[in-house]
Amino acid sequence: MPPSSSVSTDPDPRLPDVARRFLRYVRIDTQSDPSSQSVPTTPKQMDLSRLLVSELRDLGVADVEMDDHGIVFATLEATAAAPDGTALPVVALLAHVDTAPDAPGTGVEPLVHFAWDGLPITLPGDPSVVLDPAVRPALKHHVGEDVITSDGRTLLGSDDKAGVAVLVQLAADLVSDPSPRPRVRLCFTVDEEVGRGTDHLDLDRLGADVAYTVDGSDIDTISYETFHAASARVSIEGVGVHPGYAKGVMVNALRIASRLVASLPEAESPEHTEGGEGFIHPHTQSASDVHHAEVQLILRDFTAEGLERRKSVVRTIVEGLRLSYPGSRITLEMQDQYRNMRSYIERLDPRTVSFAYDAARRMGITLRAEAVRGGTDGARLSEKGLPTPNLFNGGMDYHSCFEWNTVQNLERTLDYVKHLLRTWAERGNEPSSLHDFGT
Ligand SMILES: [Zn+2]
Repeated sequence: MPPSSSVSTDPDPRLPDVARRFLRYVRIDTQSDPSSQSVPTTPKQMDLSRLLVSELRDLGVADVEMDDHGIVFATLEATAAAPDGTALPVVALLAHVDTAPDAPGTGVEPLVHFAWDGLPITLPGDPSVVLDPAVRPALKHHVGEDVITSDGRTLLGSDDKAGVAVLVQLAADLVSDPSPRPRVRLCFTVDEEVGRGTDHLDLDRLGADVAYTVDGSDIDTISYETFHAASARVSIEGVGVHPGYAKGVMVNALRIASRLVASLPEAESPEHTEGGEGFIHPHTQSASDVHHAEVQLILRDFTAEGLERRKSVVRTIVEGLRLSYPGSRITLEMQDQYRNMRSYIERLDPRTVSFAYDAARRMGITLRAEAVRGGTDGARLSEKGLPTPNLFNGGMDYHSCFEWNTVQNLERTLDYVKHLLRTWAERGNEPSSLHDFGT
């Protein structure tokens, strides 16, 4: 039985609209599937897409449509223009309907732990799932709030139904509100969790000048940094002969591959780094025997110079192996994969970040930049020419049965997005060349 302070049913009169909306959406199974080649990868994602279309139409929102891929678009018309009468930049706000394949996503039963007392929360569907603030310190900032979890058997789906609920509630609140805002394009994408969220997103159809994904974590975070990334492949040809008569002749490719991996700086590996630290990661050693071996690596760094330094570390190690094993033939291929999204955003429109900080200040929040240690939709959109930082949505411990958010965080996120639109309405005519990241 759930503890008496929990409810698992809604609508509950104590809950604001954005939270009720969130509790409805998380019950809809929208898990994406990396092994599927269909678009979207699971047709059930469109269950939520279709519901959003009908709810947005019922609200009277303009231009509501779903494309063939399950992506939903809608418009909140501008209620403000620049002082000289010209149009303000069009701001797109994006959230993804799918949930992660990393934890069970079917049969989500959300629980609201009203006025959480700060003690560990044991989830009734699986008592081994305990949200303990001693282990998850971010929880400590939310004592007294109404914490939302799953019942422990599934993920919650706050990633990114918190973003979805906030954006639909934004539409509900603003559709007939005359307070100043630029033209807003709402967009609900599919398959973000399997890295295909922007593959079929038609940027002309989106028609925005700047964008934000509402898909981040706890209140006060913004993400506009991802890695600079490169990959490397080292192929080693050895010389194989009968081991009984190998002295001075055999060159063992497997041994050279092992030396290569052992020579990489272990402190600069994924398992020893976090935050803004980069790494060199040997991830595959394949087809290895005396004759031939191959090692594949990825290199990551938040600065372009740092990535170049890591590349030269690999080159130097390979050069050393060539000298140590003159009978071998070692080839190194290195390729750039993608660049830190910051470099695109800085060039395209730094106001996206500067106004995000300004909007937070207006709410009394100090934003904290959180570097993303992986790919994001915003990174891909920024690379395609649409500057797209990622905003918080209040949730934490994503992709697991421990996932949580709070009613108050959903309200704060909604409030924050409104402040952000107000900032764009008031300052959207300022030339982007005058802005830096304004931190
Ligand atoms: Zn997400």
